[in-house]
Amino acid sequence: MNKVTVLGATGSIGGSTLDVIRRNPERYSLYAATARNNVSRMLEIVKEFHPAAAVMLEERAAQELRGLLADAGLKTEVLSGSEALSAVAASEEANSVMSAIVGAAGLKPTLAAITMGKTVYLANKESLIMSGHIFVDAARRYKARIVPVDSEHNAIFQCLPEKEQNRIGRCDLREAGITKLVLTGSGGPFRDREISSLSQVTPEEAVSHPNWSMGRKISVDSATMMNKGFEFIEARWLFNANPRDIEVVVHPESVIHSMVRYRDGSVLAEIGVPDMRTPIARAMAWPDRIDSGAAAIDFTSLGSLTFRAPDFKRYPCLKLAMDACQTSQALTTAVNAANEVAVQAFLDGRLKFTDIYTVAARTADSFALAPADSLEDVLNIDLAARQRAYSVLEDLSR
Ligand code: NAD
Ligand code: MG
Repeated sequence: MNKVTVLGATGSIGGSTLDVIRRNPERYSLYAATARNNVSRMLEIVKEFHPAAAVMLEERAAQELRGLLADAGLKTEVLSGSEALSAVAASEEANSVMSAIVGAAGLKPTLAAITMGKTVYLANKESLIMSGHIFVDAARRYKARIVPVDSEHNAIFQCLPEKEQNRIGRCDLREAGITKLVLTGSGGPFRDREISSLSQVTPEEAVSHPNWSMGRKISVDSATMMNKGFEFIEARWLFNANPRDIEVVVHPESVIHSMVRYRDGSVLAEIGVPDMRTPIARAMAWPDRIDSGAAAIDFTSLGSLTFRAPDFKRYPCLKLAMDACQTSQALTTAVNAANEVAVQAFLDGRLKFTDIYTVAARTADSFALAPADSLEDVLNIDLAARQRAYSVLEDLSR
């Protein structure tokens, strides 16, 4: 029995993970579930899966949950605070951890799981954007296995030879005969909209992704294609790739989830309906295959598959993140922090869509040369970049 801790259990990836667990009860049980403050959803999770522990980031939410569980006669222990997130991620009781908190908040608990040598199913790309080399080094040192969950990276994982699948973070692409990793992306909801009208788009339009159903933050990142830029950085670390060997292609139908080019001209692709339960099931069951609940793809009703080059005028955030990846870890951390602040301001109606780029670019400028060798350095950059981003926000609202 694989006892799983699900970090971010009340979110989009968390819900899909719980569905995969639900469908495969002979293989998986829930050891712990965590959330920021969604008490009603956590109550449902505890009632269904009976985990040993539930963690709410906010103490008030934890108190409310404790009361409700006592009323229902349920024994799950309720903890609160960020230390508790790391504790259930690192617990001896858990075999594996689904890392599905959104944003920088996912870094510490995910690293806690890594340093205990757990198998980590990695959806929280932000932790790699912030701490790439530290993360990968820790995984090697503590013999933790990283399995990519992000659909593109999971697709690439599936197209790799077994030897490389066994050394995620330390792959040797050249030895494997690989010439390029090809990341596909739908281009988001605004791929055909007049560029001059992008400053007017609303949060509701931005979170309505044409193909995938996701949390609000990553949906906005998909609309700016900052998400694809982050995935470029994520691919660099997961597959030990030179940024020159990663290609981004816009593929509006989201049928091909990413590809690997080999020296002999072969290109391997992973194809399926856009449903995160497929990469989650692949990650959790690897090397086996299990039921994920995803529908079978119907090729005859697909029509055509199309591809185009990304237009950096439409997607300046994509270029910003790709350039940051070539420059330094400090820069990718700063872009991530500024983006988090900017996306929240946009969702709150305080920032224009196109100024997400402005905030990220103006913030990033000052951090290129900052030292980013330790976790402490990275957290300092994250904090300083957030402060800088808030002051850019203020300038823009004047
Ligand atoms: P979501 O917003 O739906 O859920 C986020 C989860 O994290 C929730 O359980 C929430 O309670 C928790 N959380 C939020 N802030 C927190 C904090 N400060 N401390 C502790 N917990 C906190 O997000 P999502 O779409 O499920 O995405 C989760 C992660 O997976 C992100 O890193 C995202 O980039 C990545 N990802 C998501 C998808 C997708 O399809 N949704 C695909 C690929 C990668
Ligand atoms: Mg993705």
